[in-house]
Amino acid sequence: MSTVPAKTSHTYVPPERGTWSSSLLQQYQRCPLAWWMTTNSGHRTGLAPVHWRRGSVAHAGMEAAYNARIAWGDRFGVGSMEFFYDAAEDAMVEAWEELHMPDDPAMFDGVREHVRLVLAKLPAPRLANLVGVEAELHGMIDGRIKVRSFLDLVLRPAPDWVHVRDWKTFTALPSEQELRDGIQLPLYAWMAKQAYPWARRVSVSIYSIPANAERFVELTDGDLDRLVERVIGIVDAAEADEVCQPVPSEWCDTCWVKPDCPVWNPESTLAHGMDRDLLGDMRSAMDAIDGF
Ligand code: SF4
Repeated sequence: MSTVPAKTSHTYVPPERGTWSSSLLQQYQRCPLAWWMTTNSGHRTGLAPVHWRRGSVAHAGMEAAYNARIAWGDRFGVGSMEFFYDAAEDAMVEAWEELHMPDDPAMFDGVREHVRLVLAKLPAPRLANLVGVEAELHGMIDGRIKVRSFLDLVLRPAPDWVHVRDWKTFTALPSEQELRDGIQLPLYAWMAKQAYPWARRVSVSIYSIPANAERFVELTDGDLDRLVERVIGIVDAAEADEVCQPVPSEWCDTCWVKPDCPVWNPESTLAHGMDRDLLGDMRSAMDAIDGF
């Protein structure tokens, strides 16, 4: 197995050939060309859109606060996560620079205030209940589909219960049903249940940092079985896809590979429908999956 680079919430980890993440699965669903270009990471160019990078700054703050919680230990009780706000602010300042964010103090203050309010609202978990921060998990679906994900926060609310919380920087929360029927959070739940043998119950939540609100759902074994079926369906479709057509949508505005996309850039070296050389590269990626 190849070495996985160290990651924080504001660093980009290129996709590992033959490994699927929730992002890649969702990307193929939205636009096969975007997925193909991402898995050939040389096509990822330039900076992400500014609102993505702003989200990464907020993620960096949350990650630092929970890591500071771990470093603090259980020697002294603490009430809310706001106690660790200084660590969050330091990380956000650093991420703002690293991500080449605009020189816009009002924008930075907005992110900082959102993070502070979330930390003030959330109780600080005891260490026994805090399982992982930016936890890297691996799994194998159907004996052939290798998956890898980084989970923002993994908690253990009770001895037999694992909970995965994902920080988001959009305000509109999905419904419980949308959360249950999605790819990302159910996949995290599936991976967490595999990784932690004590986990009989599994739940997930999306926490909107700007809205300071959370959508929670507990998943059943039936929900996880349906997730596995959805993943197999997506991967089988991707493996059989010899064209990887672009599907323009509202997602184009957040697409990393837009500068190289033939839909938006008439000078792109990629032709609509792909040529045989590109198709050959795609088959190599698929072979790597088969050969794992
Ligand atoms: S910019 Fe839009 S059409 Fe082009 S690859 Fe990205 S999502 Fe697909």
